[in-house]
Amino acid sequence: MTSLPEEEPAMPNNHMKSDVPWLGVIADDYTGASDVAGTLVDAGMRVVQTFGIPDLTVPPQDVDCIVVSLKTRSVSPGEAVEESLAAARALRSCGVRQLYFKYCSTFDSTSEGNIGPVADALREEFAAAGQVTVVAPGTPALRRTVYNGVLFAGTDLLQESSMRHHPLTPMSDSNVPRLLQAQTTTPVGHVGYSTIEAGAAAVRSQFQNLGDDATGYVVVDTLTDRHLEVLGAAVFDHALVTGGSGLVGGLAAARRSSVPPKSTPAARPTGPAAIIAGSCSEMTNAQIATFRQLRPCFLVDPVAVAEGRDVIAQALNFARENLPRGPILIHSTASPEDVIRTQRKLGKVRAAAITEDSLAAIAEGLVGMGCRQLIVAGGETSGAVVRRLGVTTAHVGKQASPGVPWLTTQTAPSLSLLLKSGNLGGPTLFLDAWDDNL
Ligand code: ADP
Repeated sequence: MTSLPEEEPAMPNNHMKSDVPWLGVIADDYTGASDVAGTLVDAGMRVVQTFGIPDLTVPPQDVDCIVVSLKTRSVSPGEAVEESLAAARALRSCGVRQLYFKYCSTFDSTSEGNIGPVADALREEFAAAGQVTVVAPGTPALRRTVYNGVLFAGTDLLQESSMRHHPLTPMSDSNVPRLLQAQTTTPVGHVGYSTIEAGAAAVRSQFQNLGDDATGYVVVDTLTDRHLEVLGAAVFDHALVTGGSGLVGGLAAARRSSVPPKSTPAARPTGPAAIIAGSCSEMTNAQIATFRQLRPCFLVDPVAVAEGRDVIAQALNFARENLPRGPILIHSTASPEDVIRTQRKLGKVRAAAITEDSLAAIAEGLVGMGCRQLIVAGGETSGAVVRRLGVTTAHVGKQASPGVPWLTTQTAPSLSLLLKSGNLGGPTLFLDAWDDNL
């Protein structure tokens, strides 16, 4: 990111001297948490990622940012609010100055929420009175941009992107103010890119005007990394910020990190390697198609599990046979048509639960047979797997691809974990991510 112009508001430059982490992120799914954590590591921050509500009675040492991974995207709004508040309170109790509510850059929501209800609860308890709360899903590094409040995935409107087929949170509108307003009674406003181009002082003044008019949320246009940098400077003193993974890069730049990126990344555990995929995204389907040409794959069919067939044992037999010869892949990933067929037979919620439980049990079996490197594709899937493995904390290392860092778990046995949001990574990720240099 480039440096800010002279006339922008001055930021304190001593934040990094404190031992207290300055940023606490509450992420609504595990892969989104990894995405933020990787962005912060790239910006030179020392990051710990926790899974579930963290016990921070002994705050982590030598850490700038704590990223809490929750699985609250598709649960009931009440449950999402309760867990998010508990995570926020834990973060504030260990001295974190700024809270960041992280949701997907494609604004993944159910028909009931949960972005609005969670943001409302966090705002009520933690935001300064009269201060607007920024809503910034745009993450240009992942080709998610917001223009006139409308969200694009690459060159497609969100509602015309592959997100319209998501098994749990299909997105059929692209207008972010409208999507959010359907989830909250707090008035939602918008700040366009021309104000953001004018710099942080102009943005702050616009925020002030909107706040004076009782607007609570402000969706911001985001077309470039430079816009994130301006926004980071504009909200550096906000107690609560919300967005995708992009804006944390802007916040990190505004904090003027004095921590140089590590020149030699700490070695991560190596050993037998596997991929568990429960994402049905277009990119995960493409990654599996590429991997399948060179390496062995096993398909978990949720209908077969529901019919009582021992698919887990079959998957583990497949693993036992193939794991010694290199990375293997076990997936439930299917085409949109197959997912609809399965959901018609089992119901949407039951299909997801059966699939997630099966993949989590398989992951546990894999670790039991000595697997020490695991890629998990899918946010909900990662949540299920990580919970089953009992992992509570991980150090965040280098990214295999933007938004996908390797994690080293702190729970025995130490594992290399890569939690990949469905749409992230390129088609060869499952073949390339193991590279020893990462
Ligand atoms: P993403 O990161 O792409 O959103 P998730 O893991 O968050 O991926 O969501 C995918 C959801 O689809 C999970 O709940 C998973 O259990 C479910 N799922 C996976 N495979 C199938 C399938 N074959 N049929 C029905 N649902 C499936």
